[in-house]
Amino acid sequence: MIVMKFGGSSVASRTQIEKVLAVVRAHASRDPLVVVSAHKGITDALIDAARAAVAGSDAGERIIARQSEIAAGLGCDLELLAPLFAEMRDLLRGIRLVKELSPRSLDYIASFGERMSARCIADFFSRQGMSATAFDSWELGFVTDSNFGRARPIEGFEIRMRAAVVEKIAAGTTAIITGFVGMNEAGEVTTVGRNGSDLTASLVGAALAAEEVQIWSDTDGVMTADPSVVPTACSIAHMRFDEAAELAYFGSRVLHPATLLPAIRSDIPVRVMNTNRPEHPGTVIARQPGPNPRPVTSIAYKERQAVLTLTSVRMFEQVGFLAEFFAVVSRHAIDVDMICTSEVSVSISSYNVHQLEAAMPDLERLGTCILQRDKTILAIVGQQLPTTSGLGARILQCVAEAGVNVQMMGLAMHSINTTLVIDDADVAKVVPVLHRNLFET
Ligand code: ASP
Ligand code: MG
Repeated sequence: MIVMKFGGSSVASRTQIEKVLAVVRAHASRDPLVVVSAHKGITDALIDAARAAVAGSDAGERIIARQSEIAAGLGCDLELLAPLFAEMRDLLRGIRLVKELSPRSLDYIASFGERMSARCIADFFSRQGMSATAFDSWELGFVTDSNFGRARPIEGFEIRMRAAVVEKIAAGTTAIITGFVGMNEAGEVTTVGRNGSDLTASLVGAALAAEEVQIWSDTDGVMTADPSVVPTACSIAHMRFDEAAELAYFGSRVLHPATLLPAIRSDIPVRVMNTNRPEHPGTVIARQPGPNPRPVTSIAYKERQAVLTLTSVRMFEQVGFLAEFFAVVSRHAIDVDMICTSEVSVSISSYNVHQLEAAMPDLERLGTCILQRDKTILAIVGQQLPTTSGLGARILQCVAEAGVNVQMMGLAMHSINTTLVIDDADVAKVVPVLHRNLFET
């Protein structure tokens, strides 16, 4: 069995969904289980509509019109979606009345995109001669905790899932399962977080011990750099799990950062493919993938980060100062990416800008603090980084050539990831130079 996940752009319209059907058909002998996202733009529209409802306006009808248009394009009878449309109207009306949007109701409203797309796609497939049934993930045992906006399956969900799959998916039928959404034990709808359908796919794949998890999107696999910044970026044939995990985390937009964890734990290869060019082999991410001839695998970056620097002479020759510092950081729920220390200062980077702001008064008790915004963490990832001499010099030479100032740097022992902090405004200057030097020579 394999899990095939199709993202928003892959299911954006009838033209795209026809490609999906052809791809699924081509894999029929591998017993595919299909996980789908909402049609492109629908989740954003749902979230905007929920926010608009708090302010008293009604943006729900526009979404219903858009979804109806896609459904009609697929030849679906609109009765198929009538119950969901009614539920959505009720919910938005409720939000307008109470003028309040809790994380619980936000997940509930955001869930409609996948629930509608799965139904339309299964219906279309069936009329095209491939027997298919739509499932809300929870019908197949995807039961989560109540962490709205970043829910995760509860312990033991795998057992429920295996039982449900045997019981509910008829032989010869392809299941079309909602990505992104789940349900807690109280019967409330949850989501695993934005762009989370990848994660749903890998969780489902791991639970069912799939042979492979395929992530189908609109690029030829994972690229050496963001093609919008580096037009010459190319696809990476093989990646190790840890390389791909670093990249996903550091902003490579193809994979949700948490996607690889379940795959790593269960040792299931993840293949990233292009729905628009299914003949392209894409990227295979595995424990021991094939060889990579290049010293560096990829360049990724995460913008809009903040860097906090604390300076204190109290740090000098002291034991436990950093523990005190990180106790405050942890109390304010700040998710730290990079750390650099000197004898009298410590700098951390994080995307939790608001939490950092809130922590300032507490941190200032420990020393002098400076908080800087609009920073980018640039990550250069590759298995050979810790063992290739001169690579660090090459990287820094590129940054110098681009006329850009490095403000913080990190490379841990045995690390496959060198990170640099630069200004957001400098990304477009540095990344093409790095790419030319590390990939195109
Ligand atoms: N539809 C959801 C989102 O836009 C999940 C996904 O596309 O993976 O965030
Ligand atoms: Mg997506």
